[in-house]
Order: sequence, then C-alpha cells, then structure tokens
Amino acid sequence: MSNVNKILVVNSGSSSLKYMLFDMKDESMLCKGLVERIGTASANLVYQRAGGKKREEAVKALTHGEAFEHVCKAITNKEDGAIAALSEIDAVGHRVLHGGMEFTAPALVNATVKKAIRKCFDLGPLHNPPNLTGIEACEKKMKGVPNVAVFDTGFHMTMPAESYMYAIPRDLAKKYSLRKYGFHGTSHKYVTETAAKVFKKPLSRLNIVTCHLGNGSSLAAIKGGKVFDTTMGLTPLQGLVMGTRSGDIDPAVCFFLAKKEGMDAEALDTLLNKKSGLLAISGTGSGDMRDLCAAVQAGKKEAKEAFDLFVHRIILYIGGYMALLGKVDGIVFAGGIGENSDFARKAICERLAPLGLKLDAKANKATHGTLARISAADSKLPAWVIPTNEELMIDRETYRIVAAR
Ligand code: ADP
Repeated sequence: MSNVNKILVVNSGSSSLKYMLFDMKDESMLCKGLVERIGTASANLVYQRAGGKKREEAVKALTHGEAFEHVCKAITNKEDGAIAALSEIDAVGHRVLHGGMEFTAPALVNATVKKAIRKCFDLGPLHNPPNLTGIEACEKKMKGVPNVAVFDTGFHMTMPAESYMYAIPRDLAKKYSLRKYGFHGTSHKYVTETAAKVFKKPLSRLNIVTCHLGNGSSLAAIKGGKVFDTTMGLTPLQGLVMGTRSGDIDPAVCFFLAKKEGMDAEALDTLLNKKSGLLAISGTGSGDMRDLCAAVQAGKKEAKEAFDLFVHRIILYIGGYMALLGKVDGIVFAGGIGENSDFARKAICERLAPLGLKLDAKANKATHGTLARISAADSKLPAWVIPTNEELMIDRETYRIVAAR
C-alpha cells in the first residue's frame, strides 16, 4: 500500500503559477488557485478551497519563489487552508511543456532530468524556463519532497517516423532535433484513458480521434491506445486554425514576408503565433470562439469564413486520421470549445456524416462541460464529449511514479 496521499500539481508559466492540491484517497481536489502577474508590481493571489469561496489578494511576488511562498501560506492558512502543514504534501507534479526527444514519459526530477529540461529550452523558449523555475521553487521550499515532471509532448512520443519526420535534410533535423513532437499530450492521454472506460474497450484495442479544441487546438489519432499522429508539430504552431495561431500554412509565406516586409524571425514568430488564427480573420477583434459563434449567427461574412476555415481544417485531419487508423471506435471532443460549443460541434459532426456520424442534435445542444454521447444511438461513428482534466492526469502520473519508487 502506498503512503502517497496528497499531491500538489503545479503549472508554472512565464508570469503565473497555477496550483491544485489533490487527495489521492479519492482523487478529489482539495484546493486550487494561481498567482498571476508574477514579476510585476500588481501580482495577485487567487485561492479557493474545494466547496469554499474564491478569494483574491494583492501579493508581492517578484519571483516564482516568492509566488510559491504565498501559495504555501494560502493552502496551510488556519482559516480556509486545505491542509494543516506543508509536510502533508507527499509529492509535487509539474507540467513541463517540451520534453524534446529526451522524455517519452513523466520523470522523477533529479539533476540529470533538470539538465535535460534545460536542454529543451531552445524548443520551448517561452515555457520550459518558467517550468524549471517552478520546479526549483518547490525543491527549495519543500526539501526532500519528490518532484515529477510531466511533459506535454510525452504522450505523443509513440508516433512512428512516418508521422513525426519532416522531409528536410537529415543532418539538420538531427543537429537541432527538428521533428513533430505534438502538445496537449496530458489532455489527449486523459481523454484516451477515459474513452477506454466509456467505450468499454481495453486501451490496447482502442482506436479514436481525440479533438482538444481550445484557444490552442490539436487532434490526435490514437491507435491501440497510443498516439499514431497529431496535428501540432515542433511547436504548437502547426495544424489547426487556433485562437491566435495560423496553424498550417505554406512556409513560403515566411520567405515572402521576410523579403517584402523585412520581417525577421521574431516578427514572423509573433505574427503567426499571436496575431493570426481566428483573431486575424474573424472580424470580431478576438480569437474567442464565443465571439465568433455570435458573429456567425448574426450573419457576419468574415466570421462565417473564419468559422468555415476552422471547421474545414478539422474535417481534413479527422478524415485523414480515419484513413490512417482504418477502424475507428469514435471521435471525442474536449477543451474549452470541444466541451462547451454545441454550435462548433454541430458544424463539425454534420460534415462527418459521409464518414458515418449521425448527430443527436438534442444531446449535443444539451451538453456543456459534461461527459456525454452526442451521436445518435444508430450512428456508425460514435461521437462523445469527454471533459479533459490535465491537472488530474498530472496528479495520476505523479502518483504512478512516486508510489512505484
Ligand atoms: P486554453 O487553450 O487557453 O486552455 P480553453 O480550453 O479554456 O483554452 O478554451 C478556450 C476557448 O473555449 C475559447 O475560444 C472560448 O471561446 C471557448 N469556449 C468556452 N466556453 C464556450 C462556450 N460556452 N461556447 C463556445 N465556446 C466556448
């Protein structure tokens, strides 16, 4: 019997540190929150105990270390804390964006693992440095408590070469580890494991297409419970049209803009990651799906075009993945859009009618953030909404590693 009872899950970003504390007895969430605007004069702590009232307070947090001090105080606070002392925490699980080729699975943090995370800084320049800072803040504050790194790329590392290779000179690809990695791995894994239960199939025989549709969106072709292909690439820029990311474009657009507009690598990076996607083409002034759906329903032409492009790209990949997988047990929707936008799901599912999907319009309309089947009982291709839970997945991965020590 393992004595791992309470696990803290940390997602440390460039200016924020999100946290969630779990009780492994029943995998229940004890408290959650975040420190935002770290490094500025207006840092803020948000804390909420399960079933309690959310509270916020201005805090001094110029570093992630300072931010974590406030988190520790909040969760052990006498009035509304979730535990009496930090010593109750048995392990900390950290979300780390990029594991490169170094990591195919979650890893117990030690000096070698930290070195490898550092080696991936080039591949995840915005996320990996603050992810490591978060790990080091926990190491310092909670001496002797094991930290586990759970990589967003990890679940995708089962892809075969035909899925992950880029057809560029092998020496360059090898020198810089240039290949498709894929992201949202923790979400795709959670949804896949849940789908195995829902479809009553052993994971090893489960073939599905998982659609994580949020601000950032990606699909994964799951073959025998493992990732066979996914839409994101070396970075999260590849694949679907997203809130502010272009997704797939001809790379020649970059050469063209470099020549005509004098844009350098950084400007192009900002253009395609932050100023493109739905934000750039919807005419709504935002990359938010709620705004887009409202504008489409109001008959706005640009919005309709943007929405159709969003759906078109998804259909293109689902169709391709179904051909690659052969036999498919179902399509699963997750993420902010996948779980909540019945409008987007309807548009996607209707376009999948030629592939055997028959939507249950009533079930679809009624499903927002809950686990439910949205295809008709006689649909040849089942479609489900399975709300994702990345924190719980990190919690489970951390448990698996720490309990097995
Ligand atoms: P992130 O990638 O930042 O984690 P989320 O998974 O939270 O993003 O998804 C955010 C997206 O989900 C936004 O485009 C938002 O408009 C969309 N969304 C959330 N709720 C709804 C809703 N009720 N209807 C339509 N879209 C929704």
